[in-house]
Amino acid sequence: MTYQHILVAIDLADECHPVMRRAQALAASSGAQLSLVHIVEPMAMAFGGDVPMDLSMLQQQQFDQARERLDGFASRYPELTPEHRHLAYGQPRQEIHRLAAEQKCDLIVVGSHGRHGLALLLGSTANDVLHGAPCDVLAVRLTKDQ
Ligand code: AMP
Repeated sequence: MTYQHILVAIDLADECHPVMRRAQALAASSGAQLSLVHIVEPMAMAFGGDVPMDLSMLQQQQFDQARERLDGFASRYPELTPEHRHLAYGQPRQEIHRLAAEQKCDLIVVGSHGRHGLALLLGSTANDVLHGAPCDVLAVRLTKDQ
């Protein structure tokens, strides 16, 4: 069985390039289409949901900056044409699942830090994405020397 459409979820950190390269190699060997997604998390979520001011302008700036960074990242990969770059707003797990289903992706690729101790208790996006995913999920192990 080969994959047809691979969705790569990135948090826009430099360490996402090894994740992208792994997805690229998989796509090349299976002839799959590649798509990229970044989720902008609502500021109110970071502040615990109770913010006594209007964040709409800041959120628009946050979204515009994320678009620039996403395009900068994607420009290194010629197959990621603009229609295959997605920016969504919300909770990463929910939005990644929604987009994967909408775009009929059969594999989601994320990075994994292999956390332990307290960080493990706090959970990871990779772990979160795995639960209830509408398709296969590949967690690419991220190490410092990649
Ligand atoms: P984390 O658990 O936050 O260290 O993230 C692990 C992986 O989840 C990252 O390498 C990305 O593949 C994915 N990820 C985390 N945050 C986001 C985000 N905001 N948008 C898309 N993917 C994300």
